[in-house]
Amino acid sequence: MVPKATMEGARDPPVAGKRRRGAFTVVFLAALPLLLVLFLFGDRAASIAADTQLWSQVTQQSPRRSASSSRDRLLGGLLSPDFDEPATCRSRYEGSKRWKPSPFPVSSYLARKLRQYEANHRRCGPGTARYREARAQLHSGRNGDRGECRYVVWLPIQGLGNRMLSLVSTFLYALLTGRVLLVHEPPEMVSLFCEPFPGTSWLLPPSGFPNMNRGFWSSCPESYVSMLESGVVGYDNDGGGENGSALPPYVYLHLENMNLRLRNHTFCEEDHLALDRFNWMVLRSDSYFAVALFLVPTYRDELGRMFPAKGSVFHHLGRYLLHPGNRAWGVVQRFFDGYLAGADERLGVQVRVVPQSGVPFEAMYERIVRCTRENHLLPQVTDEPAAAAALPANSTARAKTTAVLVVSLKPEYYEKLHGTYYANATASGEVVTVYQPSHDGEQHTEARAHNERALAEIFLLSYSDGMVTTGWSTFGYVAHALAGLRPWLLVPLDWSGRGADVACVRPASVEPCLHSPPSLVCRGGKDLDPVAHLPFLQHCEDVGFGLKLVD
Ligand code: GDP
Repeated sequence: MVPKATMEGARDPPVAGKRRRGAFTVVFLAALPLLLVLFLFGDRAASIAADTQLWSQVTQQSPRRSASSSRDRLLGGLLSPDFDEPATCRSRYEGSKRWKPSPFPVSSYLARKLRQYEANHRRCGPGTARYREARAQLHSGRNGDRGECRYVVWLPIQGLGNRMLSLVSTFLYALLTGRVLLVHEPPEMVSLFCEPFPGTSWLLPPSGFPNMNRGFWSSCPESYVSMLESGVVGYDNDGGGENGSALPPYVYLHLENMNLRLRNHTFCEEDHLALDRFNWMVLRSDSYFAVALFLVPTYRDELGRMFPAKGSVFHHLGRYLLHPGNRAWGVVQRFFDGYLAGADERLGVQVRVVPQSGVPFEAMYERIVRCTRENHLLPQVTDEPAAAAALPANSTARAKTTAVLVVSLKPEYYEKLHGTYYANATASGEVVTVYQPSHDGEQHTEARAHNERALAEIFLLSYSDGMVTTGWSTFGYVAHALAGLRPWLLVPLDWSGRGADVACVRPASVEPCLHSPPSLVCRGGKDLDPVAHLPFLQHCEDVGFGLKLVD
């Protein structure tokens, strides 16, 4: 085979020769200032010149590959550089470019831990011999000896925000316990998220899991609490034989909101030791139970090393794990580029009113407007015609533009706010544009396209410079935690504790709230309020009995 260079040379020698001469001229001209410095300042200048030239070569040859830009693209070492098919998941590296720089550096320990996790997932994940072996053990009816590969299977429940919180929590649990995370993907979630781990899959293979069709619930026979109550498993290794080999082949851990509080035995040290003896675990939760993992002393050192800033857990793990699939990402890209990208500032307003709450529109709207006014998030409108209130007629300066992204199932909040800034000028001359991507009317978690829109809107919100969100809403929590922003949290309308004067409050951290903390009545212990003795915990601003991580 003829080498490519020779073929090119043979085809068009004069042009190639001209190119070489051209290249020489360019290099000579570029080096001329350095030669001059060398001539004038001698040896010391030589080393400066060499550094300068090297730097200019590096930046000129491959500006996109400079160390800092690749760090940004990989979110400071959070994302793996090992994905080689960007088209299968366009958001993975594109999405990270749209966020403001994170206020929390990624610890090198967390980055190492993630790379180790990825390697283990590749060794043990679906399609490997180790996976087939573990599956055979699962179907044998016995737990067997402690496996080299151990698994936690995540089952979805509730709306998208709840799912994202519990998925990230389950991943943190997998990191802490050396398990491989497998995701059961129901039809409404197909391709909603990209594969997060390079060279493998996080999807539970379609061959499924025992009893998947029958389902799991808090008191089903495989549930951990049922097993404790019936003596199938016990503390101090007093169930399932010396090493747990005689235990059932898997345990179901039910961590749904109210159960965390009402049923003991989920977050005591001894529970986690007992659970650790099962090679397979199925887990279902609607909660951000990552917070509760900080209550287990065994995990605390490791958590501290991964997250020197405790208030950055969801921010980092959510950005690492949850990449919108191409369909949802298309929505994000089109909407962002079309409506939001050109604004000087972006304000996200998320309005979540659950139908049962009976909150009247006017009361909620008044609260939003008061929150934005009192905190100077949006300019006041005036009665003057638009042109008069804006910049002087002879001014060449451009007015500041603010794009407001309203995200809600209902259209009326957008309509009223849009109408206000469309019909009136602002006192400051600032131009405010208001947009809403969709208004589906009602929650339809069972519909894939609805979930794609919801995910797209969570990500669009997360590209805001500031955010107003609705208290209690996991949808809002995910958006501001991904952004790394402390939002202005609308105080629930029936909340009496803080007085009616307060429209919104700023939470102490960007972390989501765990609405229903577990009971900590462990053996012989008292149900103490963890906030009293763990400095990194606080009750949530919107859910008084909830818990959140703070710094
Ligand atoms: P939460 O109920 O506010 O805690 O949030 P979840 O995300 O868990 O559940 C609400 C679900 O309703 C979402 O997942 C969406 O399916 C839908 N939803 C609620 N608000 C919005 C919104 O502003 N935009 C869109 N597209 N969907 C929403």
